Amino acid sequence: MASKSRQLIASLSSRIRGVIFDMDGTLTRPGAIDFARMRERCGIKPGGDIIEFVNNQSEPLRSKLNEILIEEEEFGLKRMELMPDIKQLFDYLIENNINRALLTRNNDTIMNRTVELMNYAKQEPFSVMLSRTFSPPKPHPDAIHHICQRWKLNVNEVLMVGDSLDDIKAGAAAGTKTVLIGLEDNHLYQQALPHADFVIKNLFELINVIENINNNAPESHSSTTTAETIIVQSEEENKPSIENRS
Ligand SMILES: [Mg+2]
Repeated sequence: MASKSRQLIASLSSRIRGVIFDMDGTLTRPGAIDFARMRERCGIKPGGDIIEFVNNQSEPLRSKLNEILIEEEEFGLKRMELMPDIKQLFDYLIENNINRALLTRNNDTIMNRTVELMNYAKQEPFSVMLSRTFSPPKPHPDAIHHICQRWKLNVNEVLMVGDSLDDIKAGAAAGTKTVLIGLEDNHLYQQALPHADFVIKNLFELINVIENINNNAPESHSSTTTAETIIVQSEEENKPSIENRS
């Protein structure tokens, strides 16, 4: 944390009108899917990109490995729990007309079943949902551009929220601001930390991030800021490259 400066937002120029969420470990509690066992069963080295590896195999191996992924994801679904604060966050986003999208490397079935658990919301929780059937997957930025086009929003009006480096890299490559969710003792969090614009410990803190950005954006005349939540912003040298902005 020594390389980070703690400060509230002062320089962002656009209001946030859309939020793209990763699913596993972001909207659901981390650890439901045993990725280590998934890699071991598929013969993938620790930390290796699972979807890329499987997609690069030829048939019939590819189908067999895909079956293993789905089986492990099904095991994960049984252990899966939504994050606390998710209802409050989605009530806030809906009340403030902020668009919501889901962008996951998980499969369609698990994505749909997870979203079914969010059926308390006043509206459909998401206007766009993309599973790994959308190619190329994160960290490629195409899916984020696709979502922004569907919303007719500029990338600087959108936040990408996730718990891993793939999410943060995808957001940075697309040109959105990025929000890392997680706890310091998690290795995924540590990998992604140097690349994230904002860091939150729980979904409730995302409301403060959005409020701070929107209260400081030029088109807003509100002067109130919420200073209770500490928002960690990367130092200049760690910020994602802006050359990839569209
Ligand atoms: Mg995740």
